[in-house]
Amino acid sequence: MSQHPTLTAPQHCDLLITHIDWLITVDPARRVITDACLAVLDGKFVGVGKTADLLQRWQAPRTELGRGRVVTPGFIDNHLHASFQLSRGLADEANAQQFLYDHMYPYEAANTREDVRVSSAFAALELLRHGVTCFTDPGNYHPDATIEAVMSTGMRLVAACSCFDKTKSVMGILPPSMIESTGACLEKTEGLFERYLGQHKGKLTLSASFRGMNNASDELIVGLKEIANKHKVKLQTHACFSYQTHDASVSGTGKAEIERLESLGVLDENMILVHSGWLEPQELALLVKRKPTLVCSPSSSLHNGYGYMAAGKHPELMAMGVNVSLGSDHASSGVVDMVQEMRMAACMYKEVRMNPRVMPPEHAVEMATLNGAKGVGLQDHIGSIEVGKQADFVLFDATLPEWQPLYNPVSNLVYSATGNTVKDVFIDGEQVLKNGELTQINHQSLMLQVQEAAKRISSRLDMKRLNKLLWPVH
Ligand SMILES: [Zn+2]
Repeated sequence: MSQHPTLTAPQHCDLLITHIDWLITVDPARRVITDACLAVLDGKFVGVGKTADLLQRWQAPRTELGRGRVVTPGFIDNHLHASFQLSRGLADEANAQQFLYDHMYPYEAANTREDVRVSSAFAALELLRHGVTCFTDPGNYHPDATIEAVMSTGMRLVAACSCFDKTKSVMGILPPSMIESTGACLEKTEGLFERYLGQHKGKLTLSASFRGMNNASDELIVGLKEIANKHKVKLQTHACFSYQTHDASVSGTGKAEIERLESLGVLDENMILVHSGWLEPQELALLVKRKPTLVCSPSSSLHNGYGYMAAGKHPELMAMGVNVSLGSDHASSGVVDMVQEMRMAACMYKEVRMNPRVMPPEHAVEMATLNGAKGVGLQDHIGSIEVGKQADFVLFDATLPEWQPLYNPVSNLVYSATGNTVKDVFIDGEQVLKNGELTQINHQSLMLQVQEAAKRISSRLDMKRLNKLLWPVH
């Protein structure tokens, strides 16, 4: 005979979130649960289901009420330059070449370690406020400062150091301080692994990174791939994000970017290719064959007019089994909000294909959660709300106007909400954002540091050239 559940004494857990209006799990069955409950023990989900069922099985010293809330997995922003967070408004109306060589690289070269620390903490603040619990950074010149800052907020991070070993490409010339020899790039990447491998209790994941195809030698790409393979981590780079990068690759190497990666033997499931919009037919075939993870960054392409959403094939590649995740890229293009990125991804492809059936909101949510987790190799730990996974989750205030009326929580999340409606965020079952404020570091003090750092940075830059305000300032 089966035992009646009420006769079994409830087990103890650390945290219960009860009576959640709508729980979007993104679990293997893609369940959406009403009047839902989450039970958390030792940083992991131990119960996910209906409140009535879970309250019979679990009791906890801390219980939070989920009424008026939509709960989702923590979002994974699979591409965000933490060191660019203080560049908002400094790279408008610039094409790919101007954006990189006239704006962002001079900005990056002018940053000190302390600037990068403040910028990275500020990035974590914005990401957490918009429900992101893990992000992938392509690397900068002060990775220790980024790691220190992000870890202090309680967030997860996939970190790397920046590697460029070719000063000139058809696109332009890099600032001298950003150029290093191939050997120095490989050595500092190995150094990052020596310093941080196994540190920060699962919050920190390392990767190898070369920042772009056109400023990386074949030796650097192959050497970084060897390091990535040795440590069983991902190798990331920007690729195919505008016609200009595509053209520069063909002019400089005789090969399109994906063809070049294939010829070097590095294209596989352990690569993360950011953007991947401008593709020739044979490159599409290679992506389907080798299955790297792609990162679609809608706000970046929309802001700079790269055209990769118009010319790109992300929906088609997803249908052919390629893992496509989502990234907000940088504050230089304005928003750093994965909820808005989901809306842009879902809507832009409908517009450019003139087909409302392309990219349903469920696909956009998968891109922002599970696909990101797969991309960084953490799919067994994060990316969905399932028993056994780390308890990373987000509570949206669904009583706010943009969430009402609430017939379909996935539709409202993608088409009408923004990240500003996030109220609380938990990582490993610990509350890292409470009512919109950071819990692990002093929120107000960080905002003061942001203003001071912006003053320092602007004093070192040619602001007349970078700031494109067309109207007179009196
Ligand atoms: Zn980028």
